Amino acid sequence: MKENGEIEDLKEFDKIMGDPYKGDSFIVITNKSRMNKIHILTCKSIKRSDFIVKVVDNKGKKGGYYWFKDPSEAKSVFDDVKDCENCRDFSRQY
Ligand SMILES: [Zn+2]
Repeated sequence: MKENGEIEDLKEFDKIMGDPYKGDSFIVITNKSRMNKIHILTCKSIKRSDFIVKVVDNKGKKGGYYWFKDPSEAKSVFDDVKDCENCRDFSRQY
């Protein structure tokens, strides 16, 4: 993983997603053409197949995946990050 939290390959992605405490951390999915969104790790919008297309196949040209322990940390890295509509109610508890 890069210093800024960027997940660099599928192995890292699987490791993070397989964490038994994954509900305690967050993924920001960046998108060059749409908004950057923050998700709680258990969100159904985080899909392995999307990660493969975006990071493995397209080499992160159109955006990437970043892992954070704390949403405030994520928001200090990305000033335009939005809460995901599928998991925001849950993530606000943190
Ligand atoms: Zn979400």
